[in-house]
Amino acid sequence: MTRPLANDLYGRHRAVLPDWLALYYDEPIEITHGEGRHVWDAAGNRYLDFFGGILTTMTAHALPEVTKAVSEQAGRIIHSSTLYLNRPMVELAERIAALSGIPDARVFFTTSGTEANDTALMLATAYRGSNQILAMRNSYHGRSFSTVSITGNRGWSPTGLSPLQTLYVHGGVRNRGPYAGLTDERFIEACVADLEDLLGHTRTPAALIAEPVQGVGGFTAPPDGLYAAFREVLDRHGILWISDEVQTGWGRTGEHFWGWQAHGENGPPDILTFAKGIGNGMSIGGVVARADIMNCLDANSISTFGGSPVTMAAGLANLSYLLEHDLQGNARRVGGLLIERLRAIGAGVDSVREVRGRGLMIGIELIKPSTGQAAPGTASAVLEAAREGGLLIGKGGGHNTSVLRIAPPLSLTVAEAEEGAAILEQALRGA
Ligand code: PMP
Repeated sequence: MTRPLANDLYGRHRAVLPDWLALYYDEPIEITHGEGRHVWDAAGNRYLDFFGGILTTMTAHALPEVTKAVSEQAGRIIHSSTLYLNRPMVELAERIAALSGIPDARVFFTTSGTEANDTALMLATAYRGSNQILAMRNSYHGRSFSTVSITGNRGWSPTGLSPLQTLYVHGGVRNRGPYAGLTDERFIEACVADLEDLLGHTRTPAALIAEPVQGVGGFTAPPDGLYAAFREVLDRHGILWISDEVQTGWGRTGEHFWGWQAHGENGPPDILTFAKGIGNGMSIGGVVARADIMNCLDANSISTFGGSPVTMAAGLANLSYLLEHDLQGNARRVGGLLIERLRAIGAGVDSVREVRGRGLMIGIELIKPSTGQAAPGTASAVLEAAREGGLLIGKGGGHNTSVLRIAPPLSLTVAEAEEGAAILEQALRGA
């Protein structure tokens, strides 16, 4: 692996940006370009990208269709998403509304997942006249003032102050806590009983917000049907269900286009939020909600840049590409093979506690074999070793960050999956 000559950019980064702006790797990488599932750093090293630029590069790096749409739109007009009619925004909203599964859906675009969740919270609290929110333990929904206050893992909260009153519900994590080891059915019963109990001694919350598969929390998923079972209880109290699809949307989980569909028996969520991959790297977030909920605000607009024509052009081109090339099917097929391969590798490595995942959202949970406790040091060592081998992966799983996160662009090929698994095997065995 070639190192950059003098990594003075790192020194300058340190001098001018906040101390808490964390970077991966002992010697951070400057990514200069990408193509397909690969990126290159400033020293000319090529990496297979198993983290998709933190899930933002959903289809592929430098996808010609997206690049063309962005440059053509930038050549026409960049500004003005609000106050004037905006054709790409209307077209993308129509397509997302139709795909969302929410009847009579309205779409509002933001620039990030945080802002999308913030808007969803504003809608739910306004609609219900309550600032109480149900959220899941170990969840992550962003780091703005409102979204940190519904983020279950307090280790991710840069401040301890909360504008919302939040109650945390069991269910996001399967293999820790009081319900570990239960069958799917018993686990769901236990979580529903916990929710019922919580609602027995509180005033009425506005909404439950949940990630169908917890992303930053370490790619943990409840059994299918948990949120359908919750929905029955929520409906009795008139509480809204917000599905945070920032990581699970657009087919990443393979079996479903949205994560909520694994829990859809009792209908779709009332509000859905999305972000990350839809712009294939351009900053798009958004909220889809039933019209009566979306229209409950007394506002004219709440974002200047949300829906900007260039990002919308990227979103339209990207969405067309992923539907036409059935990347959801690819996530299911290639992701299925990759999970199997990683399970086989994990079976021979003592520090691997569990390999889990859906589609191309795969987590490898690491422990210290002697104690069975979380192993953040091992996770960091594997991350470094994988980079040495030419593979980028992510970390997660709360403040113990003991879970390796794998979320490549959805166009990953079988050969690339095998190549990445081989590098990971070496990294895991050496760590
Ligand atoms: N929700 C989830 C589930 C996320 O994973 C993230 C980002 N990691 C967010 C919300 C916040 O999105 P953003 O970083 O675009 O603000």
